[in-house]
Amino acid sequence: MLCLKVRKDNAEKVRKYLARRKLSDNNYRIYGSGKFIYIPIAGLSASRQLGALLGRGMAELSSRRFEPAGNRQGYRKAVSRALGGSEDYSKGYDVMGDIAIIDARSRKSALGLAKVIMGINKGIKTVLSKGGPVSGEYRTRRYVYVCGERKFDAVYRENGCTFMMDVRKAFFSPRLSYERGRIRSLATDGENVMVMFAGTGPFAIEVAKAHSNTKVVAIELNRNAYRYMVKNIKLNKAVNVEPVLGDVKEVALRYKGFADRIVMPLPKDSYSFIGAAVLAAKRRCVVHYYAFGSKDNALAEHCEKLRALLKPKGIRFRVLSWRVVRPYSASEVEIAIDFEMLKKKTA
Ligand code: SAM
Repeated sequence: MLCLKVRKDNAEKVRKYLARRKLSDNNYRIYGSGKFIYIPIAGLSASRQLGALLGRGMAELSSRRFEPAGNRQGYRKAVSRALGGSEDYSKGYDVMGDIAIIDARSRKSALGLAKVIMGINKGIKTVLSKGGPVSGEYRTRRYVYVCGERKFDAVYRENGCTFMMDVRKAFFSPRLSYERGRIRSLATDGENVMVMFAGTGPFAIEVAKAHSNTKVVAIELNRNAYRYMVKNIKLNKAVNVEPVLGDVKEVALRYKGFADRIVMPLPKDSYSFIGAAVLAAKRRCVVHYYAFGSKDNALAEHCEKLRALLKPKGIRFRVLSWRVVRPYSASEVEIAIDFEMLKKKTA
C-alpha cells in the first residue's frame, strides 16, 4: 500500500504532521528498517495533500506491505496465556472494519481467541470464524458467528477506497491488499483495463480511482458480488469502471481487442480463461495472472503451460516479473505472474 518513506531523524515531525491532518492510515502499523520508517497513508487523496512535505525533501512516496494495527506480540502472549499455549494462533486473524475473522478449530478456542482480540482491539464489534475453505465457482466460504454484534456486513477500507460486502455472499480477502496496491501502481493513465473475476470490485476500483483516464471493465459471475461491486463503484465515485455481470468467456467476446492490461485473479482456474484473455487483448497486452502451484516450482510449471497454449496461436509471451502472493497449503503457494502477450500482426 501507499506510504511515506521518512528518515528516522524526521520521523516524529512527519508523524505529527500527518496525524494532525488525518492523512496517515491508522489501520496499519508503521514499519521501521535501517535509517528509515515507513508510514502508511490513507490513499492517493492523502498523497496529493503532501506537496509541502515532499517538496521539502522530508519524505518520499513509496509502496510496501504493512501489518494491520493491533498489538500482534500482545495478541500472541495473551492467546498463549488464555489458551494454555496449545492453540494454533500463528494463522493470526483478519480485520474487516469492525469485524475480526479468525480460524478456530473448536467453539471453545473461538471464544477464547475472540475474548483476547476484543480485549486488545477496542474497535472490534463482531468476531466471526471461518467455517470451511473457500469453495465453489463463486469462491465463497461459510462463516460462523462467534460473539459481539451478530452481523456479516463488513465495511473495509484499503488504499484510500471503501468496500462493503456481506462476507458470506462474496469473496473478499484483506490479505490481497498489497497485490491490489501493486497492480494499481503498475497501471498507467489512458489504458483500457479488463478486470476478470472482479468480485466486489477492489482491483477495478483501486486502479480506476488512481488513474482517472483509464477505462476499466470489471466482469463478475456471482450476482451478489456484482451487486456489491455496483454499490462500491458508487461509494468510491469510480465513474470510469463499467461493471458487467456474466461469464468472462462470454463477455470477452464483446470486448475483442479492448485491453492494454488484463487482471486475472482466479488462482484456482485462471488458466482456463487464457483464451478469453487473448480475445480481449490488444495486439500488445500486459496480463496479471494468478495461480496456485507447488512451492518449489510454481513459476516454471505455469510458464510451461502458458507457453504451450499461446505458442500455437502465434502469440509471443514474455514474463515481466513474478512473486509469491501467499502460502496456500503445506505444499502450495499462490503466485502472481506479470507477462506481456504480443499477437501477430494481422493483414
Ligand atoms: N477480484 C476479487 C477480489 O480480489 O476480491 C474476487 C476474486 S475471487 C478469487 C474470484 C471471483 O471470480 C469470484 O467472485 C467468482 O464469483 C468470480 N468468477 C468465477 N468464475 C467466473 C467466470 N467464469 N466469470 C466471471 N467471474 C467468475
